Amino acid sequence: MWCSVTATCASDVPVKQRIGVLGGTFDPVHFGHLRSAIEVHEALALDELRLLPSARPPHRGQPGCSAEQRLQMVRLAIQGASGLQVDDRELRRETPSWTVDTLHSLREELGQQPAIFLVLGWDAFCGLPGWSRWEQLLELANLVVLQRPDCDLDLPEVLKDLLAARTTEAAVADASHGQIICLAQTPLAISATRIRELLGSGRSVRYLLPDAILDYINQHGLYRP
Ligand code: ATP
Repeated sequence: MWCSVTATCASDVPVKQRIGVLGGTFDPVHFGHLRSAIEVHEALALDELRLLPSARPPHRGQPGCSAEQRLQMVRLAIQGASGLQVDDRELRRETPSWTVDTLHSLREELGQQPAIFLVLGWDAFCGLPGWSRWEQLLELANLVVLQRPDCDLDLPEVLKDLLAARTTEAAVADASHGQIICLAQTPLAISATRIRELLGSGRSVRYLLPDAILDYINQHGLYRP
């Protein structure tokens, strides 16, 4: 099911603009997010991949620091990373951060022509049936599902059917929306939950996230008990 990022992918079919979107709480951003972002960008020959922090994540408790701080950490993390950008549209909105609304907003900005690739880790993909108006997501974007070595959730039946019907090889994924691509990337068992736990118990998180983020966390006294 998983297609490898080492395969020659869609670089020979640059028919339309190709935009990736990796949404998340980024509480804080870590190498699991960043390495995945780079590998998806390359595997799908994207023009850009946007990291899109959620302001008010509807499916989880209050983040460990403010939306502005999470946004600032994402900005710091991608400095100098070619092809990666930050999209702060969810922080500019007053309403909850429903992904379907975010994709509508992206379509308003980009139009119908570009291929949009919504990137989800396996855990997020398994939780999709709990998302608001989730069936509409494939009318607005393609889905890119990433392996997560730290997650062994079972796929709900409804998603098994969806995968069977919509899965496409990365090398031929050129629709503007409606396709699902399962990508194997460098497996990194890093989670923000674990990073917050380590910081909360006074332990080191060095080498789990960029030094610039660690400096920011220390300067602002984030995630401490
Ligand atoms: P938390 O532990 O607080 O739930 P997280 O580490 O899962 O956070 P999120 O900001 O919730 O990070 O994740 C944003 C997106 O990145 C999600 O789709 C998630 O599945 C994916 N993701 C996060 N960490 C990894 C990883 N190590 N490998 C692959 N995908 C990841």
